[in-house]
Amino acid sequence: MYTKFQDHLNNELAGIKEAGLFKNERILVSPQGAEITISSGAKVLNFCANNYLGLSNNPQLIAAAKDALDTHGYGMSSVRFICGTGNLHKELERKIAGFFGMEDTILYAACFDANGGVFEPLLGEEDAIISDALNHASIIDGVRLCKAVRYRYNNADMADLELQLQAAQAQRYRLIVTDGVFSMDGNIAPLDKIYELANKYDAMIMVDESHSAGVVGKTGRGVTEQFDLKGKVEIITGTLGKAFGGAIGGFTTGKKEIIDMLRQRSRPYLFSNSIPPLVAAAGIRMVDMMSETNELQDKLHENTAYFVEKMLAAGFDIKPTQSAICAVMLYDAKLSQQMAASLLEEGIYVIGFYYPVVPKGKARIRVQISAAHKQEHLDKCITAFTKVGKELGIIKNSDGGCGCGCSCGN
Ligand SMILES: *Cc1c(COP(=O)(O)O)cnc(C)c1O
Repeated sequence: MYTKFQDHLNNELAGIKEAGLFKNERILVSPQGAEITISSGAKVLNFCANNYLGLSNNPQLIAAAKDALDTHGYGMSSVRFICGTGNLHKELERKIAGFFGMEDTILYAACFDANGGVFEPLLGEEDAIISDALNHASIIDGVRLCKAVRYRYNNADMADLELQLQAAQAQRYRLIVTDGVFSMDGNIAPLDKIYELANKYDAMIMVDESHSAGVVGKTGRGVTEQFDLKGKVEIITGTLGKAFGGAIGGFTTGKKEIIDMLRQRSRPYLFSNSIPPLVAAAGIRMVDMMSETNELQDKLHENTAYFVEKMLAAGFDIKPTQSAICAVMLYDAKLSQQMAASLLEEGIYVIGFYYPVVPKGKARIRVQISAAHKQEHLDKCITAFTKVGKELGIIKNSDGGCGCGCSCGN
């Protein structure tokens, strides 16, 4: 039996390789940080982690985690409702709710689980979910598990959202769902307009702040802070795996009754293990740190503004960003792979994305800025981009030619 299946898998895998879509993993032998060591021994500057606030290797978080190992042990060996709820879990839930100005929080092993377990317990076939076309895979999967009628609107397209809301008036309850930051372009959800439309068409709002928590808004409270709507949406989901320390864990924070119901009915919460106490302890320290000072958020915002300004001045085509994600547009898939490879030789680790991760003809290099980047790191990155960009004819040579061999003056 297996021989046939093995052949089938090998054929499929060969197909993935032929299409140039096979994902190879690079092995790190150092902690995650601005500078990392890869298994070849090379040290490179990391511009592709979600380590937005540089907390992945933060001494305060490490100390909090070590303390918790001594006081609370290693694992919980249980789901929450049997004997997997510790005082640290409860405290972290309260702190996260406070951070976002919400009423209560429920923790999950990952935001993938938070999104997978949020829709089905709350909505039924009489209801509607209206979802942005570029929402994260975990939202798409979560919606699939729910019987509600599905509507989809084009990314951040408010005219289309309005049409879908009109179509959804036949349903009992309506929930608009959006990512806070869209991870390929770095744009944010226009929450002010979404909020207006939700009021007009009697809908609730859920925002996934995975890429925006700690990043967007003056104090990093996410897109609800950016648009002055803190505490005004019904549901926020997010991850502890990005700006919030980078380890593992997810959460849903929101209205009290919603969280109460999720504790009763959300399957990834009921049937999957609690996060380790050390992760909860580090999470508590993380929220406290961000309440004591805005230093890291300020540094991240400064770094991002600096990087974008210098890259635009160097002649690169950068998508307008409102987050710490900078999409350097190259359009051509092969070029994006060449450029990423050349940048790695210059000691800059970035990833080139192309179809089907982004639309055809919209290949790019995604640069992710961190508060851990020092000015010299940013400068080294910009210098490397400029050098490689000129070599590959992406930006102008100093003689003013566009590098395409013509006289178009671009
Ligand atoms: C990363 C991400 C997730 C998944 O988070 P995990 O905690 O790693 O499972 C969910 N939603 C969005 C928008 C994300 O960017």
